[in-house]
Amino acid sequence: MTSYTSTLLRDEQAMAESPRHICGISGGKDSSALAVYLRDCVPDMEYFFCDTGAELPETYEYLTRLEVILGKPIRRLNAQRGFDHWFEVFRGTLPSPQMRWCTKNMKIKPIEAWIGSEPAISYVAIRADESNRKGYISTKPNITTRFPFVEDGVDHAGVLRILDEAGIGLPAYYDWRTRSGCYFCFYQRKAEWIGLSERHPELFDRAVAIEQKVLQVR
Ligand code: SF4
Repeated sequence: MTSYTSTLLRDEQAMAESPRHICGISGGKDSSALAVYLRDCVPDMEYFFCDTGAELPETYEYLTRLEVILGKPIRRLNAQRGFDHWFEVFRGTLPSPQMRWCTKNMKIKPIEAWIGSEPAISYVAIRADESNRKGYISTKPNITTRFPFVEDGVDHAGVLRILDEAGIGLPAYYDWRTRSGCYFCFYQRKAEWIGLSERHPELFDRAVAIEQKVLQVR
């Protein structure tokens, strides 16, 4: 068993005061490990996944296996409108670090609509060794954010250990890609594009078609 002891187990007041506990799973290793880590600390946890409809097949397969480990379903949250709609709205402009409209419209808005106005604690999978990274932190006043891995000192090695001990390991896409996300994600590195073309040539072709649309608009 893992040697970590979650501070959450000792925080009975927080457990009792908030009617909702939510944990977002991206399909990546950190959030999946957090979901496993919290499974026994927060029995009423609601797990969710923002489904853009464009994730890798490996991610969907991994989520199904994770549901077995968690013993409960992972709720899929869909944006009311998909990538094609927003691509039109933004006049054929791809998302970028300066204008990351995909995350805002296809992930954050569906999460906040699902949570509504009830008080909720959102558990975010920032690790202890990357505490300068920002995760999803809502600006809504009814949502409190907690970082159990930072609070408990769980680092990269700890995440791998949690997944290993749970018997699920890493998602298969880690063989060729560094993170979960849309198959056409514009933040991919060159090696990841090559990996996509080799593992999922049909998805690679669709990503190329999106790029061609952008070029036509210019
Ligand atoms: S994975 Fe990439 S394209 Fe998809 S929502 Fe996230 S940043 Fe946008």
